Amino acid sequence: MPGPSNRRSLVPGLVKGMATTARTMARPAHTHQYPERQPDLAPRTRGVIALLAENCTSCMLCARECPDWCIYIDSHKETIPAGPEGGRDRQQNVLDRFAIDFSLCMYCGICIEVCPFDALFWSPHFEYAEHDIRDLLHEKEQLEEWMPTVPPPPPLDPGAAEPTEALAARKPARGPRVIRTSASPEDPKAGDAKTGEAKTDPTSDDHRAGDA
Ligand code: SF4
Ligand code: SF4
Repeated sequence: MPGPSNRRSLVPGLVKGMATTARTMARPAHTHQYPERQPDLAPRTRGVIALLAENCTSCMLCARECPDWCIYIDSHKETIPAGPEGGRDRQQNVLDRFAIDFSLCMYCGICIEVCPFDALFWSPHFEYAEHDIRDLLHEKEQLEEWMPTVPPPPPLDPGAAEPTEALAARKPARGPRVIRTSASPEDPKAGDAKTGEAKTDPTSDDHRAGDA
């Protein structure tokens, strides 16, 4: 039981505390009533990593560069048979598994930066908390489901050069190269001396350079 002197020292502390409470009650709150009220996030917030699987070539670059080793990729090779007009069979990587363990990820963005094929993107989506930390290992199907939440790229700066992809898309398709057989050793570009016809060589580098 506090004595009379202790009781006297409690009164100023109580008044001071009540004054602080009254002052704080008059100020607006700094907290948000989440989830009733959603936070105003910056458009480029690093919420989660989304995967555009059709762009992924299973090159493993992102998995090798990840400082936390939290990207898991499995793939196999498939043979694409040569076309009916000749050529060779080709090998293609097929992605079987692409998973990111978000319990280890530190959101550094290195995987997104190093991907040479634009297969990984930041999404501002952040509502994927789990009760069990093991459930933060998200597989390819889930990463693909987050792609629609990725915002479109920002507009180019005024006066910026046109992206090389846009220039390449407007380039006309390559046709077969025209080779003229030489009428004489001094004139290799001349046509056939007898028929006047030209020959074609679709594999020539000269032709590609001429198209450029
Ligand atoms: S953001 Fe960083 S830590 Fe997370 S998966 Fe990518 S490279 Fe790894
Ligand atoms: S996401 Fe990009 S860097 Fe990673 S394996 Fe696929 S293509 Fe390679």
